[in-house]
Amino acid sequence: MSKTDSYAVFGHPINHSKSPRIHSLFAEQADQNIDYVAKDVPAECFRASANAFFNRGGKGLNCTVPLKELAWQYADVLTERAQLAKAVNTLALQDDGTIIGDNTDGIGLIRDLTINLGIKLIDKRILILGAGGASRGILAPLLAEQPRQLIIANRSVEKADTLANQFSALGAISSARFSDLNGQFDLIINATSASLSNQLPPMADNLLSNTGCCYDLAYANQPTAFVHWGIEHGASKSIDGLGMLVEQAAEAFYLWRQIRPDTQPIIRLLGSERQTH
Ligand code: NDP
Repeated sequence: MSKTDSYAVFGHPINHSKSPRIHSLFAEQADQNIDYVAKDVPAECFRASANAFFNRGGKGLNCTVPLKELAWQYADVLTERAQLAKAVNTLALQDDGTIIGDNTDGIGLIRDLTINLGIKLIDKRILILGAGGASRGILAPLLAEQPRQLIIANRSVEKADTLANQFSALGAISSARFSDLNGQFDLIINATSASLSNQLPPMADNLLSNTGCCYDLAYANQPTAFVHWGIEHGASKSIDGLGMLVEQAAEAFYLWRQIRPDTQPIIRLLGSERQTH
């Protein structure tokens, strides 16, 4: 039996994380001998906890709220997508002892949208609600798909303005207040954390095109408020972020183990398990 390699997810809070389950399913599928645990790590303890983890021989970490920016500062080297996102959700110990920081959230979303859900992004009008860390991570990969238009709306509009300016070299991106939004969108992505408190972002009723889709980055055992909004407003698909969660985890697993898990059976399994909750 090969030696067990040690991985973990750090975050605060962390008790509801699905990452240990997802990575154990990947490991089982790919016949990999790994141990993956969730650890509650507040921001002020992040550096010491990460140092202790790697000093004990840990191979890789996932970092979630509120640690992604701290993980970005912690990494010795960054992938290009982590540099653009200014946030890291995956740290990996390399053979030379340095720690690489990556951001797999954006590619996870793109894979779920385009491969799992069959949603085409080229030449589409996309609206992103929210301008926090998750928005920052998804902007470059979305712009790489060459949408016709990408608008970011945020309650504090100056944060949306800043993001639109920072990413303007990569494509047709602009910012707006919720109250100034008009026109119809082929895809509305909810990247606010409103669903976590069962709320909706303050958006008008007429923003979704006839064949448009809604995607909530948040996920829950029940349909989120935004998924309900999409269904009620005639979305052709209204989906939450479970698929993105599995896909971003698969990219992390690939970085650590150089094996790409088959994600679709795992998304199906987790989806069917929550229907029984
Ligand atoms: P942040 O805390 O960085 O940002 C939160 C954003 O939500 C801000 O833009 C904030 O606006 C906005 N917001 C919060 N509440 C409301 C509200 N009631 N109405 C309107 N806007 C609101 O969070 P993250 O960007 O890290 O995460 C956002 C969401 O994405 C979370 O639900 C998270 O779970 C999910 N996520 C899912 C992933 C997946 O794999 N499926 C991966 C990463 C994130 P303001 O600036 O005005 O305060």
